[in-house]
Amino acid sequence: MPELPEVETVRMGLAPVLTGKTFARVTTRRADLRFPFPENFAKRLTGARVDSLERRAKYLIAHLSTDEALLMHLGMTGRFHVQAPGEVAPHLLGDYEQDVDAGPKHMHAVFDMQGGGRVTYADPRRFGYMLLVPEAELAQHAMMRGLGVEPLSTALTPDYLAGRALGRRSDLKAFLMDQRIVAGLGNIYVCEALFRAGLKPTRLASVLATKSGKPTADAVRLVAGIKSVLEAAIKAGGSTLRDYRQADGSSGGFQNTFQVYGRAGEPCARPGCRGIVRRSVQGGRSSFYCPVCQH
Ligand SMILES: [Zn+2]
Repeated sequence: MPELPEVETVRMGLAPVLTGKTFARVTTRRADLRFPFPENFAKRLTGARVDSLERRAKYLIAHLSTDEALLMHLGMTGRFHVQAPGEVAPHLLGDYEQDVDAGPKHMHAVFDMQGGGRVTYADPRRFGYMLLVPEAELAQHAMMRGLGVEPLSTALTPDYLAGRALGRRSDLKAFLMDQRIVAGLGNIYVCEALFRAGLKPTRLASVLATKSGKPTADAVRLVAGIKSVLEAAIKAGGSTLRDYRQADGSSGGFQNTFQVYGRAGEPCARPGCRGIVRRSVQGGRSSFYCPVCQH
């Protein structure tokens, strides 16, 4: 499943073909993905210009000249084929290795842009979806309302984490996976951020705050760990855990630098540490950590 760095990689690949461009023709080849396509989807998009393309949590949001926003979520297996004007063949953004047929019959929507660009959305398992939302209602929309801070924004600070963690009884893993606290983090980057911060995933989230609600040194290290791991992953083009690919078809490189995720039984990556990475199950998901350097 794509996490924040993968969605950001897709956004960067789509932006040159969509931003500032107008939809010339929109074709849907079935009535629904996870949800039905919006009513009059093609008609509402045709003639609309994409003023900007942003990412919020794991959502892509195209702000349109029609005062609507096109909200897109990739689900588990959503990916875009992108063909810039003059290009012979499309690029694939977001290629997950799945035991499913990702061929033409899974290409559910085609966006032809004025000037010749084409974007095709494919999604074999159809957990992804597209919605059209009036700009004025976007912030209060069910998918956006209640989302926590963007981890790479200035809103994620040690003070913020301490405030949200104060008195909380959940563990750090569940705390960071909660989209209402920090938006867009998933299993991989939570494990990696906790390793960078030297914090065990089963520690209580309340270690981030003093009794009076001030951030602890743990909170400071955790914020640094979250930001640095996401920045490194975006720079590397997302992870290829499920064979995620960049715009030019090359694999994203970040999975090669995982320090704990998927490395159970292997030596800790921290120089000088003799720990062996462990796997445990928390909330039905695997956690990976070094028992020596994470406390
Ligand atoms: Zn270690």
